[in-house]
Amino acid sequence: MKALIVDDAKVVRVALGRIMNQLGFESIEAADGLQAIEQLEEHPDVDVVMLDWNMPVMNGYDFLITMRGMSQFSSSPKVVMVTTETSMPSMLKALAAGADEYVMKPFDKDMIAGKLNIVGLECSA
Ligand SMILES: [Mg+2]
Repeated sequence: MKALIVDDAKVVRVALGRIMNQLGFESIEAADGLQAIEQLEEHPDVDVVMLDWNMPVMNGYDFLITMRGMSQFSSSPKVVMVTTETSMPSMLKALAAGADEYVMKPFDKDMIAGKLNIVGLECSA
């Protein structure tokens, strides 16, 4: 399985990439929403996007709206928001825009594995 990790902080991409690899995913990265769109066009077989909200150039919410508006990505891949933006209005807004689950930073491997299972992705925890 393949994960696209989208976060402007390299340290987060590295930490999350390590966890995803441990859970049996191949991972690719993007530092903002625009790069994430480019990665998806190059790798349309991505199973899950791990998505930060606050990023320069194109934030996670705008990426979500853009991606779900593309016919081939309207219902897949799964999207797990990984963010500090966890107020109820923000969460509802992201879920309405097509996010599947939410992980609050800071995260750990068990939290990530749990959310992946909730969205129906079997992972080798
Ligand atoms: Mg950020």
